[in-house]
Amino acid sequence: MQTPSGAGFGTLAVHAGQEPEPRSGAIMTPIYQTSTYVQDGVGRTRNGHEYARVSNPTRTALEANLAALEGGVASRTFASGLAATEAVLKSTLSAGDRVVCGDNLYGGSERLFRFWERFGLEFEFVDTGDVATVRDALERGARMLFLETPTNPLMRITDIESCAAAAHEAGALLVVDNTFATPWLQRPLELGADFVIHSSTKYLGGHSDLIGGAVIVASAERDEALAWQQMATGAVPGPMDCFLLLRSTKTLHVRMRAHCDNAARIAVFLDEHPEVEQVLYPGLAHHPEHELARRQMLGFGGMITLDIGSPERAEALAASTRVFALAESLGGVESLISVPSKMTHASVPRERRLKMGLTDSLVRLSVGIEDPDDLVADLAQALDRI
Ligand SMILES: *Cc1c(COP(=O)(O)O)cnc(C)c1O
Repeated sequence: MQTPSGAGFGTLAVHAGQEPEPRSGAIMTPIYQTSTYVQDGVGRTRNGHEYARVSNPTRTALEANLAALEGGVASRTFASGLAATEAVLKSTLSAGDRVVCGDNLYGGSERLFRFWERFGLEFEFVDTGDVATVRDALERGARMLFLETPTNPLMRITDIESCAAAAHEAGALLVVDNTFATPWLQRPLELGADFVIHSSTKYLGGHSDLIGGAVIVASAERDEALAWQQMATGAVPGPMDCFLLLRSTKTLHVRMRAHCDNAARIAVFLDEHPEVEQVLYPGLAHHPEHELARRQMLGFGGMITLDIGSPERAEALAASTRVFALAESLGGVESLISVPSKMTHASVPRERRLKMGLTDSLVRLSVGIEDPDDLVADLAQALDRI
């Protein structure tokens, strides 16, 4: 089974990287639950596999699939999104290097960066929504620009193409965490990024049943450095998780369409609701970067943040939904509700949170693929009760 060249996203999602298993014809890539591989003679491996930290056929299939979806040369997968982020840092940077990064990154990425400060890396946090600010920061000397778009939970959009140009002019690499958008909505490598990172725990996995990470690169040289990093530091995913992910990416385009449709409907409902102060969703015409989002993304995603007016009302709303489950994380088929300041972003110092507009009155929704009528009705009853 060969994926036709120039195949569409859905065809790549279902087929790329996968062949029927030759011995039985099994159409699904098997879970190669093994640590080592028999050699035909000393140093004579079958198909290049020698030890499962270095390579595993289930993982290899997944990596080829993800590379195809992001339009990259290659992909390497990791035990978590943060392990993927760390692998990018370690494969490119040395003590003394400076990184310019977004000031509204996933909290865990910022925590990871703080850890690496102990080993001589420097990080400057800036508003990547403003390309002039990014340019200024890069001019002070940087090896890397690291950004996320849309941001979490403020849903701000960064212009990837302009940032790629600014980074390359300054001799820096561009890394984009594409977890929120997924390759179905946004393809950073095509806009000039050097690395794309995913927490595959979220939309790529899509079923809230695994932790994983991936890096997709635009050049074979970067892949070589990354593969070495993956082998040398060993934060690899197990074959079962690779199998689950490979199964999940087959439906990524179908799920993302449903997430986007449901979120668009809910965003309009909330925007018109008298109890809601503000809705942050790039699909709404009044979102400050709505036009940029239209240009850069195929759709607006499944994440919505709303300002409900007070911290008490935020907590009450999060406790009052029945279909939306109160939980951290995002990107699964089931809808989730959370209060970022008390949950996902509790580790960000309050002063910095407030400075970027991340107040205690915000509520974040990860809109799932349930029936939209039921989701709207659930939010309506919860808003009535607070
Ligand atoms: C969850 C998340 C991460 C970290 O991924 P893990 O799989 O939890 O390690 C990184 N970036 C973003 C945007 C995320 O949402």
